[in-house]
Amino acid sequence: MKEFIEANQQPMLELIENLVNIDSGSYLKSGIDRAGEVLAEEYKMIGFETEVHEQESLGNNLVIYHPEAEAPEIVLIAHLDTVFPEGTAEKRPFHVADDLAHGPGVIDMKASHATALFAIKALMDSGSSAYKNVVLILNTDEEIGSIASRSLIEKVVADKKYALVLEPAQNGQLVSERKGGGKYFLKVYGKSAHAGIEPENGASAIEEMARKILKLHALSEPDRGITVNVGLIKGGTSVNTIAPFAEAGIDLRIETSEDGERLDRGIKEICSYTETPGTAVELTGHITRPAWVLTDAARTLIDVIAEEGAKLGITLSHEKSGGGSDANLTAHIGIPSIDGLGPVGGNAHQETEYLVVSSLTERTLLLANVIKRLSAK
Ligand SMILES: [Zn+2]
Repeated sequence: MKEFIEANQQPMLELIENLVNIDSGSYLKSGIDRAGEVLAEEYKMIGFETEVHEQESLGNNLVIYHPEAEAPEIVLIAHLDTVFPEGTAEKRPFHVADDLAHGPGVIDMKASHATALFAIKALMDSGSSAYKNVVLILNTDEEIGSIASRSLIEKVVADKKYALVLEPAQNGQLVSERKGGGKYFLKVYGKSAHAGIEPENGASAIEEMARKILKLHALSEPDRGITVNVGLIKGGTSVNTIAPFAEAGIDLRIETSEDGERLDRGIKEICSYTETPGTAVELTGHITRPAWVLTDAARTLIDVIAEEGAKLGITLSHEKSGGGSDANLTAHIGIPSIDGLGPVGGNAHQETEYLVVSSLTERTLLLANVIKRLSAK
């Protein structure tokens, strides 16, 4: 398979270029669907079928499998969405400088789609039938918490043996545990009034929001890996008006499900009353990703992957990541899961995001070997 993958480095890069240059931010349905169509077409050419799970406002989720597959055991999960707004690809399109490729979403996680496709092609080319043991889920809302794709993911992985999540290998390492988290949105309603003429007739939504933010942030317990962060805030109508409205986006990170329940209650409690007369609050949101804790079954899976890595001269260890992923969802329903099986790179979600081009063939071969090994009867 090595020769096949090495001979295909150029087509892999061309596929990544094509995908990176299609803007596909989580809320950009047209772009995500276009990227999904490019991949569905690639899989069609090798005899795979794509089940399109249509969505009205978010991108369509895709489930891809070989029609001759009988009770496949391995799920590969790779998301199609990025965190970048429309127009980013035009501003800084895909480009390669030395051994690094850049462009929006290049490592998180457009390059992983090339890894998955060419690992499957390599298996087919080698005469192995392990490609029939694989089902792929390409979901479209991972960067916003996989709220809409969660039930599909849970349904597809429920009867499988392994979930391999193709998020990038930051520092080249596998990811075996991740923090869990939640997303909440708080709206505060007040009453507008002229700030100079009749301030007493107003009720400041911003004042109330400011109180809430301090209380929410005070829930953080850094020593225990608990963070409550108000990362978005907006409100008010003009500088000389008592603010009639304010809203905030709240991000929660936790390391255990017990902490998750406790913090969820804490956030709801803080947002259940007001201290600024004349204001009202409304909270929506919940825990979106349960914490992912390493299990013995996952440890066995890691050992297999590390062994396959060693055969290729790659020393693989595994680490805990603060960011959530779809592995939180698959692990939560008891499926041995591993993440970080994508190519090597870093600076995800930033302009400086990069893919280490030379890792592409190496990690594709690793993935193909892992699929083959897990499929051996
Ligand atoms: Zn990602």
